Amino acid sequence: MLIAGAGMAGLVCAARARQLGLSPRVVEKGTRAGGSMLLSSCVIWRHVEWDDFRRECPGGDEELQRLVWERLDDALAWLISLGAKPVWDDTENPITTGKRFDPRALVALLARDVELETPLPADVDGTVVLATGGFGRRLAAERGLLLRANPWSEGDGLDYALARGAQTTAGMDEFYGRAMPAPPARIREEDFVALSQLYGKWAWVHTPTGRVITPPSVSWSENDLAQLIGPSAWFVLNDEGYDVAGDRVEGARAAGGTVLEADEIPFETRPDARIAVHVSAAVTHTIGGLKVNPCMRTHARAPVYACGVDVGGVATGGYASGLAQALVTGLVAAESVASR
Ligand SMILES: Cc1cc2nc3c(=O)[nH]c(=O)nc-3n(C[C@H](O)[C@H](O)[C@H](O)COP(=O)(O)OP(=O)(O)OC[C@H]3O[C@@H](n4cnc5c(N)ncnc54)[C@H](O)[C@@H]3O)c2cc1C
Repeated sequence: MLIAGAGMAGLVCAARARQLGLSPRVVEKGTRAGGSMLLSSCVIWRHVEWDDFRRECPGGDEELQRLVWERLDDALAWLISLGAKPVWDDTENPITTGKRFDPRALVALLARDVELETPLPADVDGTVVLATGGFGRRLAAERGLLLRANPWSEGDGLDYALARGAQTTAGMDEFYGRAMPAPPARIREEDFVALSQLYGKWAWVHTPTGRVITPPSVSWSENDLAQLIGPSAWFVLNDEGYDVAGDRVEGARAAGGTVLEADEIPFETRPDARIAVHVSAAVTHTIGGLKVNPCMRTHARAPVYACGVDVGGVATGGYASGLAQALVTGLVAAESVASR
């Protein structure tokens, strides 16, 4: 059994496979283990209500969604049984439930026997589990967007499976992402969380030429706004919005982003404008991906499984926890391979 990718999904799959008596080989293309989990806020969550999950992610595969939703609490208990220590016992969001971990501690706990800087080989004899983190880097490059994720997930797993007859899901153009300060801002990986311009419901949104594209409403995750803005847009705030979002705005300015005072804004905007921030959508991970059956097996001719955000069809049409998807599907992939 070869597992490609040492992010949350690959590491969980490997840990569970070892528990079940297998000896997986884990290869990781990057220079470190942990994938995007290491950069994340590490809140592993699900919607409290099933109906909210369906309503917020209406294009997803219902069977796959139910699997993640129903198995997450046990999966979190499994993680804790390995020695993971939650730093929050819930999410502080009334419509979601889950736990937050320290990402460094979690990676250190899970990352055993990983062969670093070893990409998925072109041909593998035997079972392959793809946990390569989707194709966020490729999608960002195609659309001129920023990348807010590990730099190595560029679609290798997808290509490997498709070359062997696998199929893709709906939502191949969708991503989970955030508005970030647009270039020339310098955004380091460790600033991905703090520099997110996450105050969309307070903002008037303009295109680069000043056209108003403010949506009638913005979801709590603001993932819908990230899809809307593209590579370049302006968030304009009044005093009230600035009172809420001032820290993030000043973070953008300190990072070298473009932040204009009211009298500098070069287009017509709200009469009470206080400040305008130049933003760009940044891709964290893709939402569409490989089509799998409930055992996480793809439709490839060879025994090719997928887990984590290589799997499509969980959050299509909206946003759900990528880490929850990685945790549950990593466990399921290991159990399916072990029971073959
Ligand atoms: C700033 C930030 C904050 C976030 N906060 C949260 C949060 O609070 N809650 C949440 O649920 N989600 C969050 N996420 C998203 C979450 O981190 C991801 O959804 C999740 O880590 C995906 O896990 P994965 O294992 O599927 O993929 P990844 O973490 O992307 O791991 C894939 C791994 O595969 C490797 N790889 C790629 N190609 C190859 C290849 N050819 N061969 C071998 N290895 C390869 C990559 O290097 C990478 O290490 C956040 C992400 C970021 C960046």
